[in-house]
Amino acid sequence: MPLPTTSLAASPCGIELPAAALEEWRRIVGPEHVRTGEADRLDWGRRTFAPDVRVSAVVSPGDADQTAACLSTATRYRLPVHPVSRGANWGMGSRAPTRDGAVILDLRRLDRISGFDGRRGLVRVEAGVTFQALADFLEERTDRFFVPVIGGPAQASALANALDRGDGSMGERWTSLCELDVALPDGRRLRTGCGPLGADRTVGLDPAPAGPLIDGLFSQSNLGVVTSAVIRLEAMPGDLAILSVDIGGLDALPAFMEVWRDCQCEQSLPDRSLTLWNGIKWLALDEVRAAIPADRLASAALDEWHASAVIRAEAPEILEARAARLSRRFAAVSRTVEVDIARRDGTWIEGFEDWLGVPDGRNLRTVYWRKERHPDLTTADPDRDGCGLIWLCLAFPFEYQALISYLTWARGRLEEAGIDLNVGIESNGFRCLLSYFTLGFDRAAPGADEAALAAYRDLIGTALERGFVPYRLANGLPVPETMRETPAAALLAELRAVGDPAGVLSPGRNGIGRLP
Ligand SMILES: Cc1cc2nc3c(=O)[nH]c(=O)nc-3n(C[C@H](O)[C@H](O)[C@H](O)COP(=O)(O)OP(=O)(O)OC[C@H]3O[C@@H](n4cnc5c(N)ncnc54)[C@H](O)[C@@H]3O)c2cc1C
Repeated sequence: MPLPTTSLAASPCGIELPAAALEEWRRIVGPEHVRTGEADRLDWGRRTFAPDVRVSAVVSPGDADQTAACLSTATRYRLPVHPVSRGANWGMGSRAPTRDGAVILDLRRLDRISGFDGRRGLVRVEAGVTFQALADFLEERTDRFFVPVIGGPAQASALANALDRGDGSMGERWTSLCELDVALPDGRRLRTGCGPLGADRTVGLDPAPAGPLIDGLFSQSNLGVVTSAVIRLEAMPGDLAILSVDIGGLDALPAFMEVWRDCQCEQSLPDRSLTLWNGIKWLALDEVRAAIPADRLASAALDEWHASAVIRAEAPEILEARAARLSRRFAAVSRTVEVDIARRDGTWIEGFEDWLGVPDGRNLRTVYWRKERHPDLTTADPDRDGCGLIWLCLAFPFEYQALISYLTWARGRLEEAGIDLNVGIESNGFRCLLSYFTLGFDRAAPGADEAALAAYRDLIGTALERGFVPYRLANGLPVPETMRETPAAALLAELRAVGDPAGVLSPGRNGIGRLP
């Protein structure tokens, strides 16, 4: 594809965009939705780790057609673009593109919710719909369905999170998606699922039509921009209890994990319904580091463990029996167990009304661990506030020894970088543990960013050497060669070239594709 001959508009950050491309984008989305001012560009390139990324422009389409047209322009002018649905991706690269000089495709104006089906529990959301907006929408229309919220910010995108295979309090989000509307970088639009077959009565149902599952190509990927999708909502359980477990020290953990695994096997605790936190993660929810005595900090890394679990049931007597049985089992291997009944016979118990499906963003406080105080959650912005944060997401076998020997090593390596071991763990079935490490550091300390990035690289490298794999990667950080060089990565690069001949969409994301 020949490069159009055009004049170049100088950019204050030293990156030049063809004036004709900017002109095209202005025609497509309206001049007020193409921003090239220095303040905007610096703002969108900021992340919670160094260095900031240089952004050339921020282009904000208003619908799926405009999104596809903007991508087509980027392809014709061979300009890298990076989609951002809401940009609450703190610790995973924030809103910043994967490469210097890229244009941000800001999808926040795609904020429509449509096609709500209150009987089948389906709703179509555009990319810019937040968890909060979706919760508000559903609250007005149904008490039978909800979207499991994530531990992250309420202003995150329900669609982008699911595309990124995020997880909420009651399971992973990816499999809730179907009927994707995708804009390819060459400007084509693609609909997946039953809709394009005219099979309207099976839209949104599981399974997908016969044939390979194409939807997966757009998860954690740079093959297309998903402008909207149908979300299969979660049915609201009639009865619900919350189990809070103070497990005790490291010596209590093996027996606790055995009980947990048994409960997963027998399905009394479904996938990801139990969350295990080390003491540091637990403390960071309510305190900043400076408020914790040194001896408590030392033991909280590996010698203090907490868990909470959501117990569901179809009737009050079943909930009571199940909660009693689970608390007996966990009490036998833990220090204390508390049970709170949150919902009985379809009615919330006072104080628990917001337990499912209403995001509170409270975990954002943990990002301010190294600051003097917690922020006002309504205005908190870890990029702006200079918080140091990298998420590291690693999968382990459901085995105490494999997990703990890695954690023990990781604690030492992180301490060398001045970082506390802060880890949460969930189970994906009875075979797999999914961990998420919060690498929180003080960006004001000299060399802190470099030390954190070196530790991150070592943590991933050592995990791979020991046979464990990252299941989610931060944008803009090096992808280990072993992950970039697989046959699957090579095939993905070939597939990507079909819809993205100039290689403009988030080049290098998850190791796929390089700068054109
Ligand atoms: C304290 C804290 C707690 C967190 N807890 C959780 C948690 O419990 N579970 C969890 O899953 N995450 C969690 N996160 C991580 C993060 O906040 C979420 O994943 C959040 O959903 C990401 O922000 P976003 O939805 O605005 O996505 P965005 O920032 O818009 O995008 C995320 C990624 O998807 C790509 N993308 C965005 N939109 C599209 C699109 N339409 N098509 C194709 N690609 C697209 C982007 O390029 C980017 O790579 C947490 C973060 C913090 C700071």
